[in-house]
Amino acid sequence: MKVLVINSGSSSLKCTLFRMPEREALAHCVVERIGEDEPAISVEANGATWARPCTASNHEQALDAALGALLESGGDALRSLEEIGAVGHRVVHGGERMSGSAVVTQEVEAVIRDSSVLAPLHNPPNLVGIRAASHTLPAALQVAVFDTAFHRSMPPAAYLYGLPYELYEQRRIRKYGFHGTSHEYVAERAAELLGVPFDRCNLITLHLGNGCSACAVRDGRSVDTSMGMTPLEGLVMGTRCGDIDPALFFLLGNELEIAPGDIYDLLNRRSGLQGLSGKSNDMREIMADAERGDPRARATLEVFCYRVRKYIGAYLAVLGAAHAVVFTAGIGENCPPVRRMACEGLESLGIRLDEDKNEAAVGREALISEDGSPIAVLVVPTDEELKIAVDTYRLSRAP
Ligand code: ADP
Repeated sequence: MKVLVINSGSSSLKCTLFRMPEREALAHCVVERIGEDEPAISVEANGATWARPCTASNHEQALDAALGALLESGGDALRSLEEIGAVGHRVVHGGERMSGSAVVTQEVEAVIRDSSVLAPLHNPPNLVGIRAASHTLPAALQVAVFDTAFHRSMPPAAYLYGLPYELYEQRRIRKYGFHGTSHEYVAERAAELLGVPFDRCNLITLHLGNGCSACAVRDGRSVDTSMGMTPLEGLVMGTRCGDIDPALFFLLGNELEIAPGDIYDLLNRRSGLQGLSGKSNDMREIMADAERGDPRARATLEVFCYRVRKYIGAYLAVLGAAHAVVFTAGIGENCPPVRRMACEGLESLGIRLDEDKNEAAVGREALISEDGSPIAVLVVPTDEELKIAVDTYRLSRAP
C-alpha cells in the first residue's frame, strides 16, 4: 500500500510518498508560493529531480499538481491514485485533547480548528491540506499526526506555569511542547538500538535543528520538554531566543518603546544564533567563524551548547536515571563539536563521550559514548515523514 505524507503550510505543500509496510520513501515533492505569483513545483523521484512552474492558486490545486507530477514521474512511484490507501497529515497543535495520531473525523477537525488559537500560523493551513486531500483522494483514509501529541503524557508539575491557575483553567495557558513526532521517532529507534523495551526506556532526546528542543522520556513517554506554550521557550535556536526573563517583554516595550508585535518578532526571528552572532542562523557559518577565532561566533556557540548542557542536567534530575542521551536534527546529527561541548563536564553524571566516535558520526546512526559509559550517547537521524507514514499505516490497518 502507498501512504502519502502531507505537510501543508500557509504557502507551501510538501508531500512524500511511501511504500508501506516496507517504509520505503518513493518520491518527494514540494509546491511553493501557493496563492502567490509564479507557484512552482519540484519533484524527486526515481533518482531524478526536476522543477517547473505550476498552477496552484489554492492548496487543492497544489495537491493536484503534486499528484500529477508523481503520476508523471514514471517508474513505479505512483501508477494510479487508487494506490494511495491513506494520507498522513502533519498537524502542529492538537491542544489538550489529542494524545496520539488519529483518523480524521469531524471531531478531530474541530480539535484542529479549536487549537488554531494556539498555533495560528500552522493549524489553519494544516486543516486546509486535510480538506484538499479529503476532496482529491476521497477513498483514502485521512490521518492527523500531531506535533504536540507525544507530550500529552507530561504531568501537571511539568506543564503548568507559575501563573494564576485561572489562566490555565480558562485560557489553557500551559506548556504543550512541539517536535513530538521527532522526539518519539528517535526515542523509539534509540530503544531499539539499545535493546531496551521502549516502555522501560528512559532517555533525553535533543532535537537540534533550526528549531531546537529537549525532551525527557520516562518509560517511553514524554514527561517534560523544553518548548512551551509556543515554540519560543527552551533552548537557544536558529532565530529564537529560548528561555529569557519574561520581564524583558515589559522592559523592551517600556524603555525602548518597541511595540508588542515587534518584540515578538525580535524574540522569534532576530534572536538565537542569528541575534547573538549578528550574522547567521546557520550553525555551519557560526562554526566556521568560531574556528577562525571570531570571539562573537565563539560566544554564540558557547551560549548554544551551555543551554543544551543545562537541559541535559535538568532532565537527568527529572528522570533520576537515563539509558541514553540522543542527538538528532541538522545540528545534532552533523555537528560533532556541538555534541562535545554539550556533554563537556558531565562525566560525573555518567555521560562519557568517545572523542573519536563522536568526530566520525556525521549524518548517520551511531553510538558515540565510551564503552562502559553509564549513560549511552547516541546520534539518531530523525525522520518525521516516516514516523507519520508509520502511524498512518498502523491506523489504516486497525480493526
Ligand atoms: P529544521 O529545523 O528547519 O528542519 P534542520 O534539522 O535541517 O532544520 O537543521 C538545520 C540546522 O542544521 C542549521 O542550523 C544548519 O546549520 C545545521 N547543520 C546542518 N548541517 C550541519 C553541519 N554539517 N554542521 C553544523 N550544522 C549543520
